[in-house]
Amino acid sequence: MKLVDTHTHIFGSQFELDMEEVVMRARRAGVEWMLLPNIDLESIESVVKAIKQFEELKPMWGLHPCHVDGNWQEVLEKIRPFFQQFPACAVGEIGLDFYWSKEFVTEQIQALEMQLAWALEYKLPVSLHTREATRETIDIVRPFAEKGLRGVFHCFSGSEIEASEVIDLGFCLGVGGSITYPKNPVREFIGHLPLDSIVLETDAPYLPPVPYRGKRNEPAYLLEVVFALADFFHRTPAEIAEITSLNSVSLFNLSAQSVQQKN
Ligand SMILES: [Zn+2]
Repeated sequence: MKLVDTHTHIFGSQFELDMEEVVMRARRAGVEWMLLPNIDLESIESVVKAIKQFEELKPMWGLHPCHVDGNWQEVLEKIRPFFQQFPACAVGEIGLDFYWSKEFVTEQIQALEMQLAWALEYKLPVSLHTREATRETIDIVRPFAEKGLRGVFHCFSGSEIEASEVIDLGFCLGVGGSITYPKNPVREFIGHLPLDSIVLETDAPYLPPVPYRGKRNEPAYLLEVVFALADFFHRTPAEIAEITSLNSVSLFNLSAQSVQQKN
């Protein structure tokens, strides 16, 4: 089985001591690519260190909405050169988060719009974080999508109507460990969505799937998400892996050739 973890923070401090073992377990589980969404200025160094160490780790450059403040323009100016230095597979992690704080809502919107414009300019997809802001994010993304922008609503948590709107924009839904949580409302409609709009992610170290709740999440646990989706879509795990990997390889322009060669 070949898998792509389209959103994983294994460059973070929780993996400092054993990142190599985490990557080895991911390889054994069939995870061929792991896409690393940058968070802020401080996280850049650890993303760079990680991508230099393992070839299957690909960076995204961006400023996470929870780290947007009054200085956002200055911060974006410092992040932007990294697109030239270390070619990215996407602009991320960007978006809107009205759950943790509403202090910088205007700044979050401005920073998001600027980074969506970067993605169009660089012809890259985006990895979008939305929390209590799915509606607002869809509305902001729409004019960019009409100009050809593509991407993922990472850890999608909106309604069925919002899911259809996201798919109509040509965007994918990122599905991770939370799909195994009994109370997740997305479980009620996920199986009705087209499988070619779904990509897999862990969001490690967060949101570990059942039976790993309470532990640190890691890319190897993506298999649990595959098994859950196989139930929802009445497909085999191998089919879920194949279709979602093709979706990811094409969206993030990962080399299809090396995915095949590795196994
Ligand atoms: Zn993230």
